[in-house]
Amino acid sequence: MNAIEIVITLPFFPQSETRGDSWTRIIILGPPGSGKGTRAKIMGKLYDLPVVTTGDMLREAVSEGTELGKLAEGYMNRGELVRDDIVISIVEDRMSKPDVVKGFILDGFPRSVEQAEALDRILNRLGTALDVVLYITAEQETIIERLSLRRSCPKCGAIYHLKDMLPEREGICDECGGVLVQREDDKAKIIRHRLEVYEKQTFPILERYERVGKVRQMSGEIDIKEIPDEIRRVLGPP
Ligand code: AMP
Repeated sequence: MNAIEIVITLPFFPQSETRGDSWTRIIILGPPGSGKGTRAKIMGKLYDLPVVTTGDMLREAVSEGTELGKLAEGYMNRGELVRDDIVISIVEDRMSKPDVVKGFILDGFPRSVEQAEALDRILNRLGTALDVVLYITAEQETIIERLSLRRSCPKCGAIYHLKDMLPEREGICDECGGVLVQREDDKAKIIRHRLEVYEKQTFPILERYERVGKVRQMSGEIDIKEIPDEIRRVLGPP
């Protein structure tokens, strides 16, 4: 049984009665292609919180050709996790900005035990703590289909899907007119490796948050139109 199958057999975690004022420090966890990014963007708007997406930050560094980008690129193209110390330092820096004082949605971080420990330390230093971990589940076949048909805009980060979410003009981003590409790590061989990396390195941190009762579960397979209502149901009203 792999991590994704285990997930499906897990009991449904208790839902919150209400979100309350303090539910503003949120992690989104789940396998690649489960829909974390889509949910993060919707939640950011719904709850008026900044979204911190390590994948986007790293991709930006790669496309700008910064030192950080040069360090990260190889790991990303191979579908491996970028070195913990590199990712921790960019998150540490981002979490010191004033806009995250009111809360944040962390999308794609932490992804290893070391990162989870570092996040505890960062939040401790800021005199705060996590409120909730939103755990997104999806079956492996869904993930593979979704990622292999995904196309993204390297200019603005918008995401499309060759079956379910086509741009108006073929190959062109609706948002900014950029030319859509298939991410190197969305190619079939790399997707499988990313799933293995998720099971080995990321899945184990879920237990850590379950132990302290912070996990809420949400399906990554519902129709995109239903996501806002599902978020309200699981996390409570804005
Ligand atoms: P994502 O867009 O979240 O799927 O991330 C794309 C790639 O960026 C991953 O496969 C990793 O190579 C890298 N990455 C993103 N977030 C992290 C993280 N927290 N730790 C290490 N690598 C990361």
